Amino acid sequence: MDTQVLAADNGWNPIIVLGPVLFFLLLIVFVWLLPAIVAALIAENKGRNGIGWFFATVFFLGPLGVGFALIAPHGAMDPFVLPTPAPAAKRKPTHGRQRFTCPRCGAENDIPDTDTSYDCWQCDEHRKVKPKTTEATKS
Ligand SMILES: [Zn+2]
Repeated sequence: MDTQVLAADNGWNPIIVLGPVLFFLLLIVFVWLLPAIVAALIAENKGRNGIGWFFATVFFLGPLGVGFALIAPHGAMDPFVLPTPAPAAKRKPTHGRQRFTCPRCGAENDIPDTDTSYDCWQCDEHRKVKPKTTEATKS
């Protein structure tokens, strides 16, 4: 009369047998697939490769994939997609200025036409340059 009704009716209890299996399946789903989906959605929202992020998260990153997708900058550093070289925004120097490309670091410096030297904004390299206009001399 005191027998456990839940467990002892049948010799084979699906809950006890399948429980751990289901548990591990759910664990895999929640720990690996869910973050992968979330990471993919985040990546997609950032205009990036969602599929790539999904697989990268499933196979390599796991739960960390969400974090990586969150901190990843917009549209760069995709795991499976090499960043396409951004078209160099070639804007013209402002009027009255001329552009010098620093030979040391390659940074572009826009300096006034009349200046005879500049300090590179990026590497502080001091360069002497020839003023473009000779008549516009400072008094
Ligand atoms: Zn420089």
